Amino acid sequence: MNVSVSVTCDFCGRQVEGEQPPLTWTTSVERGRVRRYCETCSRTHLRSMEAKLDSEWW
Ligand SMILES: [Zn+2]
Repeated sequence: MNVSVSVTCDFCGRQVEGEQPPLTWTTSVERGRVRRYCETCSRTHLRSMEAKLDSEWW
């Protein structure tokens, strides 16, 4: 059996092979769940995360 392990981006659904995401990916834990974002989404997510933080701090 050929079991392929892949990591999926939780934002856009992009997949890469491997047990660990590439170094360019971002791994974050939100409410106890691990979320992974590809390098493209990392930039987008980081930006929106900062924006969200600002508005949710109120
Ligand atoms: Zn992505």
